[in-house]
Amino acid sequence: MNIILFGPPGAGKGTQAKYIVKKLKCFQISTGDMLRDEIQKNSEIGKKIINDMNDGKFVNDEIVNKLIENTVFDPEKKDKLIFDGYPRSLTQAKNLELLLKSSNQKVNLIFFLNVNKDTIIKRIKKRKVLEKRSDDNIDTILKRYDTYMATTRPVLDFYSKNPNFHEIDGSLGIDEITAKIDVFLNV
Ligand code: AMP
Repeated sequence: MNIILFGPPGAGKGTQAKYIVKKLKCFQISTGDMLRDEIQKNSEIGKKIINDMNDGKFVNDEIVNKLIENTVFDPEKKDKLIFDGYPRSLTQAKNLELLLKSSNQKVNLIFFLNVNKDTIIKRIKKRKVLEKRSDDNIDTILKRYDTYMATTRPVLDFYSKNPNFHEIDGSLGIDEITAKIDVFLNV
């Protein structure tokens, strides 16, 4: 089963992705983690993206699209892909459709964790203390939220027409969100 977790930063995509990965023995594809890893390694990609990441801007589509390609085509991960934070633009969504199609796969479920700005600010402040993420400062968070809201609308419109699209109230507690997701995993 291939699943997309969609929603603004701090909506709980990572937490729910980890739950699904464990339950279905799948693989989490977090483009945020992959990009942070490139920065950590100080790779060519890392050097190119560090400023955008720290400014809360989206990384160039071409870079992100390239980054996920190997994973989608990995036979071990076929039909076991849990996307967390990808796609975030219409170009990325269309790229994913193409990659899945050419590897004989499809998106089985799309969860949109919808959550407001106040809840996100509270959550990210907590996460900053717990996880010490370098891109978790309040200015970056607000920029990331605004960027997300402004640029992902077309992606939301694109997926909301899909019969496998499910909107979930992301301001609920972790277990409550998991229970709502579970309903669709158990069918
Ligand atoms: P995340 O860990 O998903 O919250 O992502 C952290 C940051 O990584 C974002 O604010 C973006 O700068 C960058 N990023 C992650 N995924 C993507 C993506 N699919 N497209 C563009 N930028 C991304």
